[in-house]
Amino acid sequence: MTVARILATKGREVLTAQPHRTLKEVAEILAARGVGAVVIADVQGSLLGILSERDIVRAVAQRGAKALDDAASMHMTTQVFTATEDATVLETVEKMTSGRFRHVPIMKNGRLAGIISIGDAVKFRLAEMENEHSAMREYIASV
Ligand code: AMP
Repeated sequence: MTVARILATKGREVLTAQPHRTLKEVAEILAARGVGAVVIADVQGSLLGILSERDIVRAVAQRGAKALDDAASMHMTTQVFTATEDATVLETVEKMTSGRFRHVPIMKNGRLAGIISIGDAVKFRLAEMENEHSAMREYIASV
């Protein structure tokens, strides 16, 4: 099963913010949209990094409330693991687990084409397992 299947259901919108946005502005976006990370991109939409709620918590823990006025570029992760649509859900989840991050931007021809969170992957896998169990129960009942 590829990540393209998840994107087909959840959509391809990627929440982005420019690198000069402050942590406070990014925190407001995360809270308003109910998500855990934004991709930091330039005006052309090219990926520069990712900033998650963990980065904001870490910055505040290290620098106090004044960190909220820092630019996103100061605290984002720049070595971003990305995947393409043909990546399997399983390999993407394994990468998130081993890398200890919960978001993977999906790229197509060098452009952002979606984002998968660990929550999306778990939700999808549970639905898939439920379908498999139903099919199995129906099969057993029929023999
Ligand atoms: P998360 O679990 O996604 O909230 O992120 C935990 C940490 O990993 C934060 O420092 C993020 O900036 C970083 N991070 C999130 N997603 C990725 C990714 N796809 N590649 C590399 N680092 C990431």
